Amino acid sequence: MKNIAKIIAALAVCLCVQYSHAQSQKEKIKLLIIDGQNNHGNWAQTTQMMKGYLEETGLFVVDIATTPPEGGNMEGFTPAFSHYKVVLLNYNGDAWPQETNVAFEIFVKDGGGVVSVHAADNAFPEWPEFNKMIGLGGWGNRTEKDGPYVYYDQTGKLVKDNSPGAGGSHGKFHAFKVVTRNKKHPITKGLPEVWMHNKDELYDRLRGPAENMEVLATAYSAKDQGGTGRDEPMMMVIHYGKGKIFHTTLGHANESQQCVGFITFLQRGAEWVATGKVTQKVPGDFPGTDKISVRD
Ligand code: ZN
Repeated sequence: MKNIAKIIAALAVCLCVQYSHAQSQKEKIKLLIIDGQNNHGNWAQTTQMMKGYLEETGLFVVDIATTPPEGGNMEGFTPAFSHYKVVLLNYNGDAWPQETNVAFEIFVKDGGGVVSVHAADNAFPEWPEFNKMIGLGGWGNRTEKDGPYVYYDQTGKLVKDNSPGAGGSHGKFHAFKVVTRNKKHPITKGLPEVWMHNKDELYDRLRGPAENMEVLATAYSAKDQGGTGRDEPMMMVIHYGKGKIFHTTLGHANESQQCVGFITFLQRGAEWVATGKVTQKVPGDFPGTDKISVRD
């Protein structure tokens, strides 16, 4: 009799575990990474790195959609955006088919989330709605015609500079400090205000519509590193229709993406665009004010 009771108890535990496993699978945020073309040859590696970072939170299940290579026939590239909560762009290449652009616009307008990483903001200079989503972009012949150059002045004021000039440049590949500009946003709340980022490209002179956009963090683009001498936007959030966008300019090289600061913002930004909340704790190995922190 005792044994039967034990068996029943064991079965109950087993069923329960399976049920909760199925539940947690069901509740995970479905996220699609788009890659396939990039002026950064490590794109296939960074896609796998970011997939790993997102899945290790236990919050996301990640698929990858890879476009044909540069110059290839893009006609069949029609990802089912509506199957996902979030689309992460690790893509800088040929234009998508018009129907894919329209589907993407509808996806975001209806409340889909977007994460734009590093050179993804170089993409699609001719696609106005995309540029509204990312707020700011660079290169691709972007100039004052595409919107103001946005930076912070020495008094901590946001400047939208409409004077003529090219959009997008960077100085030397180097480690630099990232400074939070809004400590109350769910993505930044509880994180150290200043932290040392591992070596990366520090994008500057980005230009774009900058509508419904809030800068979360900046970095000082030092002239002795080939920069502008201004505080440049590094991470921002944008609202487009009902959709939310998290845009990080960071993430040039694998070592840039191994930085715990990059990883933490990516994880938190992806959760926020999906749900409007961030439930993740600040990791113990977050970088210090002067100390980089990387994961293998
Ligand atoms: Zn780069």
